[in-house]
Amino acid sequence: MSRPAVGRLAPTPSGWLHLGNARTFLLAWLWVRSCHGRVIMRIEDIDRPRCKPELREAALSELAWLGLDWDVGPHAGDPPGEYDQGTRFEVYRRCLQKLADAGLAYPCTCTRKDIEQASSAPHGDEGAIYPGTCRGRWDSYEHAKRESGIEPAWRFRFEGASIHFLDDVSGDVSIDRSTLGDFVLWRRDDLPSYQLAVTVDDALMGVTQVLRGRDLLTSTARQLALYAALGLQAPAQWAHVPFVQDAQGRRMAKRDGDLSLNHLRETGVDPSRVVGLLAWSAGLLADLQPAAPRELVGDFSLQRIGKEDFVVTEEHLTWLHK
Ligand code: GLU
Repeated sequence: MSRPAVGRLAPTPSGWLHLGNARTFLLAWLWVRSCHGRVIMRIEDIDRPRCKPELREAALSELAWLGLDWDVGPHAGDPPGEYDQGTRFEVYRRCLQKLADAGLAYPCTCTRKDIEQASSAPHGDEGAIYPGTCRGRWDSYEHAKRESGIEPAWRFRFEGASIHFLDDVSGDVSIDRSTLGDFVLWRRDDLPSYQLAVTVDDALMGVTQVLRGRDLLTSTARQLALYAALGLQAPAQWAHVPFVQDAQGRRMAKRDGDLSLNHLRETGVDPSRVVGLLAWSAGLLADLQPAAPRELVGDFSLQRIGKEDFVVTEEHLTWLHK
């Protein structure tokens, strides 16, 4: 029996939301609502030093301003609770322990520099691939810590040849495990990794469909391996969508202050123009026109989403500010 549709919006409050994040969240929301599913708001604040309460507050308030809603999780003004990853470290730690007990996680004392310098380390799209230096090197975490004098990380023992999955936007995906390497589960600064936290939460929160940026395609391969290793049920459907780029043709980032939702809102832009531009840019509207998210649910289909990145130009910004 298929599970009821559940999706999530998962902002990371380490920067202001920009048009790129907003488009991904809009598409994720439309997909869930078009499946009559429940939407979870989850705050991905595991990187404690970089995440800020005012950015969490801004993300919650700006997504609501756009016209998105959610069934569980915090709203603006709410204190951190069970849908804030920063409160869930015990859950992640238990899962790490389970992997360690099964021999699927091992302590690693390599620094980033060690990995870069390992002459045999091939480079993939995401930098140096971990060459497995600490696989089988230490008897225990304590042993690794004593010998190295540093707090070790934990890595996943990533076995198997390749990972296949169907992506509802990108099609059939096949990723060779050797291009990914053993990845970090728990960081040397005592924080869970994104891969561990997101896998555990998507499973425990019953998420059935995940839509996110195409940069996370390889993360999905890692996460599928983690679901299997933890004996957890993976989401059934995946969709990795193109980016929004700034006028210089770069993937939108924090430097693009004028394209932050905060700036657009403060300079009087109407949210229906933001939604209209994002929906039109994704191929969901034939003409550039203001729109509310709920008006787009009926016609939504993943098949309509274009495969190309969208470049925001001066003309688009002028239109937003009309
Ligand atoms: N927290 C991530 C972001 O803000 C999303 C991660 C995910 O969807 O798995 O980009």
